[in-house]
Amino acid sequence: MAIPISNIQITKLSYLRNPAKKRGVISMTKILVIGAGGVGSVATHKMAMLQDVFSDITLASRREVKCKDIADSVMARVGRQIQTAELNADDTNATARLIEKTEAELVVNLALPYQDLTIMEACLKAGAHYLDTANYEPVDEAKFEYQWQWAYQERFEKAGLMALLGSGFDPGVTNVFTAFTKKHLVSQMHTLDILDCNGGDHGQHFATNFNPEINIREVTAPARHWQDGVWIETPALSTRHSFDFPKVGSRNMYLMYHEELESLSKHYPELQRARFWMTFGESYLTHLEVLQNVGLTSIEPILYQGREIVPLQFLKAVLPDPGCLGKTTTGKTCIGTIITGQQDGQEKTAYVYNVCDHEACFAEVGSQAVSYTTGVPAMIGAALMATGIWSGKGVFNMEQFDPDPFMAMLNDHGLPWQVKTLDQGLPF
Ligand code: NDP
Repeated sequence: MAIPISNIQITKLSYLRNPAKKRGVISMTKILVIGAGGVGSVATHKMAMLQDVFSDITLASRREVKCKDIADSVMARVGRQIQTAELNADDTNATARLIEKTEAELVVNLALPYQDLTIMEACLKAGAHYLDTANYEPVDEAKFEYQWQWAYQERFEKAGLMALLGSGFDPGVTNVFTAFTKKHLVSQMHTLDILDCNGGDHGQHFATNFNPEINIREVTAPARHWQDGVWIETPALSTRHSFDFPKVGSRNMYLMYHEELESLSKHYPELQRARFWMTFGESYLTHLEVLQNVGLTSIEPILYQGREIVPLQFLKAVLPDPGCLGKTTTGKTCIGTIITGQQDGQEKTAYVYNVCDHEACFAEVGSQAVSYTTGVPAMIGAALMATGIWSGKGVFNMEQFDPDPFMAMLNDHGLPWQVKTLDQGLPF
């Protein structure tokens, strides 16, 4: 049964269109976005559409030419001028200098997880707030954990600054869906399943939806889920089930580890089980298996013609750039949370999800839905920080804030969601 959205009380955010009038002082308007990839492009276009919140936008990346291409597209589609800069964000001092030069009050990190810590350091140095969409991962080890970024809690708190971690879709919206379910739908949660389906077709033999290096490291890592207070590890891609996704249809999905499981199991100790599932087509898995078998997904450096190269980085260089897949991608994504538990003494299962259309995203901002579903929540997290609706001192995950304003903005900015009550949780 679908619950009409109007029955759920969520804050109206029309004042975001004119925050100065309704809230008195706008505390933050100058934004520095780092990373001119697929996600950075969507977030920048969407920020440009909210001039009252983001009055000054600078986009910086390793290659300024990519920033300039995005700036041209923003001008053509939105009619706004944004600034661009070249930056190696591995260099904390250079990043701090750019923050000072642009007078940015908030840095939105849409580069790669490897840059998280150097950019957080730069924010502390230059006195800016911080937001990202993926947790830190060392370059030489395929291991992503929040511990490195949570360790900044005291320093951000002392500096009076806020760091918002994981404001993409998953992590990001999935954390907000969980907080929303807890607040409005299932007050005592028992199990959480996050289901990520890309039902799109890009017409390529093999391509990844976002940065190939980060994506392949994630997919080839062992699966892990939370059960009765411990992590259960199983071999990568070894647990498969089929699920009938709204507007997409039946797809095979595989148990994986995903970073939001770490923060959600910490912030909701009532969860007896928390799992993450992602869909993959047969062709993707066959290609991946061959690439793995021949050693091309390895992150161990090898010697090639007298110089060291990392096979996975070489593979990334020959694969299609996910940012260029928009033109040819058709179909939809469907990502959501299924949560079982109790509400008013009754057993209840709530499914909260969003369906996003690849072609509609391309028509709006020139990117496919995977970049879109990440870039829009990055813009929303930044807008909630910029207007002070979400505020705090220290390092935060998304579920630590009131989900309602975020949910309202998803509806207003291209990612509307649905709620369904199911008879039961996943039968497996
Ligand atoms: P891309 O590879 O398309 O873009 C990354 C951009 O960052 C590129 O423009 C790249 O430059 C730039 N960059 C890399 N290193 C540096 C550096 N040292 N200094 C400055 N710029 C740098 O990735 P995506 O846009 O697909 O993904 C961006 C981020 O979003 C990633 O961290 C990814 O993990 C995350 N993500 C999160 C999701 C979520 O739902 N939470 C989903 C999808 C992605 P160049 O162009 O020169 O290579």
